[in-house]
Amino acid sequence: MSGRSAAALITALLPASLSAQGRAAATYLERYREIVSLSPLPGRGADVSHLSLTRDAGTLFLDAGKLFLLSPVGGRTVGAVFRGQGRFVFAPPIPAERVELQRFAGSATLDEAFSEAILLFTDSTVAQFGALAFGPAEIPGDVAPHVHEVLASLQGEKEGSFSRAVMGPLLNSEDTGFFLTRLIRARGDPVLFQIDPGASEAVQLYRPVSRARWGSNWAVVTQFPPQQEGGTPAAWWYRERLSVPSYRVSVHLTPTFSADLAFAAGATLVLKAVEPVGPWLRLELHPKLVVDSARWETGESANVFKAKESDDVWVLAPHRLQPGDSLTLTLAYHGDLIDRYGNWFFIDPAAAWYPQNGQGRNHATFDVSYHSPGWYPLASVGDRIDSALTGKVLTTRWVTRSPTSYASFNLGLFENYHVQHPGAPPLDVLISDDAHRELGRELHAQGYMVLQQRHMRENVAADVSNSLKLYAHLFGACPHEHFYVTEIPYFEGVSFPGLIDLSWSTFQNTSLDGFDEFFRAHEVAHQWWGNGVEGGSYRDAWLSEGLASFSALLYLQSEAEHKDRYFKYLDEYKADIKGDRDDAGPIWIGYRNATPDVRRGYDVMIYEKGAWVFHMLRMLMLDLSTGRDDRFTAMMRDYYTSRLGRPTTTADFQAVAEQHMGMPMNWFFDEWVKGTGIPTYHVAWTSQPAGEGKYAVRLRVTQEHVPPDFQAFVLVSTDLGNNRFAHFRIHVRGDQAEYLSPVLPAEPKEVKFNDLSSVLADVKMEGW
Ligand SMILES: [Zn+2]
Repeated sequence: MSGRSAAALITALLPASLSAQGRAAATYLERYREIVSLSPLPGRGADVSHLSLTRDAGTLFLDAGKLFLLSPVGGRTVGAVFRGQGRFVFAPPIPAERVELQRFAGSATLDEAFSEAILLFTDSTVAQFGALAFGPAEIPGDVAPHVHEVLASLQGEKEGSFSRAVMGPLLNSEDTGFFLTRLIRARGDPVLFQIDPGASEAVQLYRPVSRARWGSNWAVVTQFPPQQEGGTPAAWWYRERLSVPSYRVSVHLTPTFSADLAFAAGATLVLKAVEPVGPWLRLELHPKLVVDSARWETGESANVFKAKESDDVWVLAPHRLQPGDSLTLTLAYHGDLIDRYGNWFFIDPAAAWYPQNGQGRNHATFDVSYHSPGWYPLASVGDRIDSALTGKVLTTRWVTRSPTSYASFNLGLFENYHVQHPGAPPLDVLISDDAHRELGRELHAQGYMVLQQRHMRENVAADVSNSLKLYAHLFGACPHEHFYVTEIPYFEGVSFPGLIDLSWSTFQNTSLDGFDEFFRAHEVAHQWWGNGVEGGSYRDAWLSEGLASFSALLYLQSEAEHKDRYFKYLDEYKADIKGDRDDAGPIWIGYRNATPDVRRGYDVMIYEKGAWVFHMLRMLMLDLSTGRDDRFTAMMRDYYTSRLGRPTTTADFQAVAEQHMGMPMNWFFDEWVKGTGIPTYHVAWTSQPAGEGKYAVRLRVTQEHVPPDFQAFVLVSTDLGNNRFAHFRIHVRGDQAEYLSPVLPAEPKEVKFNDLSSVLADVKMEGW
């Protein structure tokens, strides 16, 4: 919140009952200040030997040395420093995570000496120190600076901003198992090992990175759910402790003197405890937004703290909530959310413009009223159920039919183009011709050649309509009967239920290589994958992005003029995947593939390799005698209809795939989703008579760059002359093996190994 010093002054003049907010803000800041000034206490040192602290998959052995307790927070001991000879043993229980550790440390488990451990905790650590004899001890001069260094690495830019994983347990004095240690290792950089009970994958190991380069001081090496008590199985990031099932929001968009739009809103949300939680609850709101007031349904004001330029909003509930407890909170807030350049409004489509759940899944119903200038058409998620113009203010009310993970809106100097293609749902396309002309003039003046297509709206609307039709046909009906397609001044697209935001550039022009058709169809596909079927955790992002890209490739293949693009894009993706394979990890580590070293890792693995995985399944299920995709399409329809509206994990998808393949598919998902191997096949072939003028093909396949047990069903096509072809699959496994084809009616002239790019692999043909 802004103006804290002024608020503190005013507090002194207010009656006690009105000063609660000031006091609570001080409570938050008091805790915060106690945390950032943690330092060793004279008289609180102890000799320590053979003490071990086991925290899930990690154990710290404090073999011999000194322990110094740090100053209290909220009257409790929450920190200590160990100096001496220690050892850290750490073994991730999940194979894919052992591989991640291997990439970082050169070894799948850690057993390493350390000389210093700085500890923060609200778990049983303090009890384990109970047997030590604390007394006066000489504190080495660099202990305090080291503690300060660790705290600074967890701090945000502005006062009050601090690692949420640390802040929550310390604010709430929670005994939920929070533990953090920064270790100075005998060899290599320091590491940070953390048990964050607020995360679904609570066990985390971090490495130091540059904040200037990466925006944070620590990057994840490995993380996984605790072994003892699992996080909620399908939680994207946070453990499901709180649910926010419904929102009522009133948004005021008011023109300012500089012709910008001022943003102010009041949001009423229901907070429902799933587990014991609070009394400090955490919500998330865009860093630029400032909270003006907060109150409970009783009318009582709620104590709230939001640091400048932080997205954490901490709200103090009247008491710690027990499962099933429910509160209704109304927050009023405002801020510089919308920028204007010329005729464009920059409204970041993914911005947290309403308070989002910071302690569980976002999945809620929305009832939003917008009060906006009457001359700017507005589109929002939900059905518009009311619209009224009062003077120059347009008030529209939008209500979602079912819970959604995201709500968004867009407005601008738009013209509304209503279109309905036969067999497709009606669209309202909102674009700004003026803005395009202005942009064109500006770029032209700068010497750029600016191509602007004719029929901008029609071209975009045609792809949106056609891809909507194709996907409804392939996957099943989408729950929305009407769509808004709006233009955004970004080089990206974002898809919300019934609302598709597309980059201005795809309206400006349509490239000849099919990319714009692909881009539009990708965003449309999110109505099925992402909005319809939602990813369960961050590990399942490929089920949205990879599948949206694969669906867009299917759309290109369905269009006569772009048929060949399906394989051209897969080839381009393959080059990217091979380029990054040594630096990026498997699809299954999701966003963690983007690192300071491989920033494109996420795009390449989730979007591009993700699309490949669906292509490979399609090829596995292809009917070789008819060339039809019926089995694959039936699987996708089943997947869509059975998972619609539910968070869905890789394991859920695998179960559907196994049902339709009629075989266990661990091998496939382990190789392609949880693994990083890409085989190179060295192939030689010869033909041999099989009697009665028939032949068989003998193939010798050596596989490289993958483990010996790597297996794949590779599609082989043979040219038998006279325009006759035969297709079969061989089950390749082992370092080197020979395979015999089915009996062929004629002598093969040519053999194509890995036809239709059935496996993400390189093929090198050799003489027999
Ligand atoms: Zn996408």
